Amino acid sequence: MTSFQTISRVYAGMPTSDGAGVQLTRMIGTPELDMIDPFLMLDRMDNDDPDTYMAGFPNHPHRGFETVTIMQEGQMRHEDSVGNSGLLTPGDVQWMTAGRGIIHSEIPEMLEGRMSGFQLWVNLPSKHKMVAPKYQDIPADRIPSVVEKGCTVRVIRGQYGETKGPAESLMPVRVLDVTLKEKGTWTITPAENNTYFLCIYEGSIIAKNSEGQTQEILSPSVVMFEGEGAIQVKASASGSNILYCEGVPLNEPVARYGPFVMNTDAEIKQAVDDYNSGVLAT
Ligand code: MN
Repeated sequence: MTSFQTISRVYAGMPTSDGAGVQLTRMIGTPELDMIDPFLMLDRMDNDDPDTYMAGFPNHPHRGFETVTIMQEGQMRHEDSVGNSGLLTPGDVQWMTAGRGIIHSEIPEMLEGRMSGFQLWVNLPSKHKMVAPKYQDIPADRIPSVVEKGCTVRVIRGQYGETKGPAESLMPVRVLDVTLKEKGTWTITPAENNTYFLCIYEGSIIAKNSEGQTQEILSPSVVMFEGEGAIQVKASASGSNILYCEGVPLNEPVARYGPFVMNTDAEIKQAVDDYNSGVLAT
């Protein structure tokens, strides 16, 4: 008999702004939810008013981790110190390994009025923090979808059944974008000892809590589960959309300062010094 996990925690996220004043909801990387190792940060962008996002994220550095940008509506143009540039259009994903250092800009370009999507930060282990930077722009048509009875699962990174996502990462993580039909059900069994969470970003879902009662969770929310077995969620009558992330925790010390995430304070100081002296991305 299949056993099911129950809801352990629900986080509604924290409204904030970043870059040159882009309004977003920080789902992970807040005082309330610092990280879900190895996931350092998750930002939800969902803005109807171009004034709340058009200034974007002008030139800024990163070191020590990977950034994942998932575009849903609207477009984002990026350029970096390695010489890469590109335009992310709806459904596209950019998976960037900052490694020892990259300086880039991420500037929205208006399509309709709305811009929506995610930025996820995946930590790197000590041995990979100073690797050469790398980036992958993955167009929507290269991301396979698995159609099930109650839902469609876009496989961005990692394995889902027989289907493998196109994104390459130095971390063994799985990132799935799930669209549930109205009252559709989705079930997944995380690998033992992995960490995992759902971010509900459209509609709402229903899942069981530890008292055995069904609980409705509205978007946007990060949901964590506990117990043995599979995770099962059901969409409400309007359907829902979920980002699912799973990975092997690093269990390493984390020293973070803005766009730099290292293991020690000395490494953070080095990153700041390297940026200030112009050698971070050389
Ligand atoms: Mn960035």
